[in-house]
Amino acid sequence: MSEKQTVLIIEDDKAISNFISRALSANDYRSIPAYTGKEGLSLFFSHGPDLVLLDLGLPDMDGLEILAQLRGLPRETPVIIISARDREAEKVRALDMGADDYVVKPFGVSELLARIRSALRRADRLKLSQGIQRSSYQIKDLTVDLARHQVLLGGEEIHFTQNEFKIIELLAIHAGKVLTYDFILEHIWGPYGGSGSNQILRVNMANIRRKLGENPSEPRYIHTELGIGYRMLDD
Ligand code: CA
Repeated sequence: MSEKQTVLIIEDDKAISNFISRALSANDYRSIPAYTGKEGLSLFFSHGPDLVLLDLGLPDMDGLEILAQLRGLPRETPVIIISARDREAEKVRALDMGADDYVVKPFGVSELLARIRSALRRADRLKLSQGIQRSSYQIKDLTVDLARHQVLLGGEEIHFTQNEFKIIELLAIHAGKVLTYDFILEHIWGPYGGSGSNQILRVNMANIRRKLGENPSEPRYIHTELGIGYRMLDD
């Protein structure tokens, strides 16, 4: 039997959340309910669901904020917005920000399931095409091979710790884009793991640069954006 696909339901209305959970388990999905935004993010990072159902009107944070955080991650987990009828403008913004689809309350089970199936199919296609196109990144004489978990510098393998590799991988996937300290911290150490301190990141980054033989005043691979974060150069 194949592993069940997991759907994270971020919805504070317990009646709606229970209704969705029942529909999902009757159709062979596993569901995880989260009743606040914070809980939703935390469960997202701990469980890595296949799909997220996201209510925009949450008690503790704006659903769009959650969407923005999920869309900043290299692995694009499909997000379907659960929208209230009086929040049309938000729904559009959510789609602009990369949400995959939406359902408007009240919605039926068959409509919801159809949306979920379609979003999961799209995500599968995307994963497949990305895997083929970009399983490694080349920046000057530096190669980050994602499939083999290898970093080569001028053809020689450089050894990194697991977290160092995860940081390089994250920067390489987003090469050319500035990644903020918080984004990197959260991605590598989880939503609460590294919060409040950039020290842990600075130490890892110093080790990475030493191993890459970077000259801090003239970096060839990783730039520091002062007060913001880091950027891997895009060749
Ligand atoms: Ca709500």
